[in-house]
Amino acid sequence: MATQAPLVIVGASYAGTQLAASARELGFEAPIVMVGDERHAPYQRPPLSKGLLTGKTPVDRLELRGPDFFAQNDIDLRLGLRATALDTRERTVTFDDGTVQPYGWLALATGARCRPLSVPGTGLEGVFNLRTLDDALGVAGALARSKRACVIGGGFIGLEVASALSTRGADVTVIESQPRLLARVFPAPMSEYVAAAHRRRGVSLVTGRGVRQLHGKQGRIDAVELDDGTHIECDMAVLGTGVLPNTDLAEQAGIATGNGILVDASGRSSVPRVLAAGDVANMAMPAVPGGRAVHLRLESIQAANDGARAAAAVLVDREQPFTGVPWFWSDQFELKFQMAGLPASGDTTVLRGDTATDRFTLFYLRDGAVAAAHSVNRPAEHMQSRKLIASAARIAPQLLADESVDLKSLVAAA
Ligand SMILES: Cc1cc2nc3c(=O)[nH]c(=O)nc-3n(C[C@H](O)[C@H](O)[C@H](O)COP(=O)(O)OP(=O)(O)OC[C@H]3O[C@@H](n4cnc5c(N)ncnc54)[C@H](O)[C@@H]3O)c2cc1C
Repeated sequence: MATQAPLVIVGASYAGTQLAASARELGFEAPIVMVGDERHAPYQRPPLSKGLLTGKTPVDRLELRGPDFFAQNDIDLRLGLRATALDTRERTVTFDDGTVQPYGWLALATGARCRPLSVPGTGLEGVFNLRTLDDALGVAGALARSKRACVIGGGFIGLEVASALSTRGADVTVIESQPRLLARVFPAPMSEYVAAAHRRRGVSLVTGRGVRQLHGKQGRIDAVELDDGTHIECDMAVLGTGVLPNTDLAEQAGIATGNGILVDASGRSSVPRVLAAGDVANMAMPAVPGGRAVHLRLESIQAANDGARAAAAVLVDREQPFTGVPWFWSDQFELKFQMAGLPASGDTTVLRGDTATDRFTLFYLRDGAVAAAHSVNRPAEHMQSRKLIASAARIAPQLLADESVDLKSLVAAA
């Protein structure tokens, strides 16, 4: 009996691993080959800007799956191998060791890479990106020798790094070119809360200023120059300036892209038998449950896992499109941020709790229904918020704001 051509998964991280795992759970029987260009077995990325830097999470706790997982599930994991070309007519993938691998199905789970900061000086010693375990080990090593750190970019990763480095005793300055922190994901009131929370804990913030150059002595960074000529002295800098989806392979192969690989809600690309999931996928999905489908490229563990589950279902001819409520978390100092749904301009906001106590949920209502919720140190409310968003029920704002009303009862009523 001829062996079936395998499912080849390019990218060995969250989306790739979940896709392989779900394929097996759903009874997919063909061989699975998963290639990743990093040298480490699939590992957890969120701790790289959190516990790994504060010292709470040791490196040997980062593995995404147990050591036997791949062998037990008959997944041929090939590490340190890069896919360099696709031929979607012949159905082959070429690797950087020169081998050519035929596929029956191809899944692109190539994720994202750090957006380069195009100013002079980023090649100096002591300047770090933060995407991979090797990047994080570099940051942790430099931290041991540094007193003053600049973090360029006031998004989630930048702010997590700022909080971790500050917790470890460094003087930290965050530089954000937008007028406020987290401008891409948070509305103004949440940005203001985050800024105040960081300042109160000793982090210096510079907003509305770009970076002109990184300066150094003997090849090592010693200052960041802002676009108004101000110099901020530092012995290390971490770049948190966002990511770009790794679409090169797909583009070269003529697969439709646009801020990621364009896929439907089941992860199908424009080319038959080619799927994509995770940070690289720009998926057609409703922004609110039951809403019109729009293309969204979500950079989160949940989106990587749920997108991969949807794609795996296609392999066994079952439809299980991604319909869930997007959610995400971020840990900064002792603050646990949990975000559910996607707020939009024009939403009405309702505050439950008190920002001064660092325990609250900010709800976003659209046409009377809860469309999104941002919680700080309120994990139970975050879980209930997800259910409220999924139900699309209209809830009176005064009930949401009233802490004597149990959110569970609102969920039950919805
Ligand atoms: C520091 C940090 C903190 C984060 N914190 C959170 C958090 O708190 N919560 C949250 O929800 N999300 C968080 N994220 C985001 C989350 O990690 C990503 O959404 C998730 O990793 C996406 O998974 P992925 O599998 O799509 O892509 P990736 O994790 O980017 O993996 C893609 C893999 O494919 C490899 N690859 C790319 N091209 C090729 C090729 N041609 N050949 C072979 N291999 C290739 C890459 O090297 C990489 O190993 C964080 C990310 C970082 C970097």
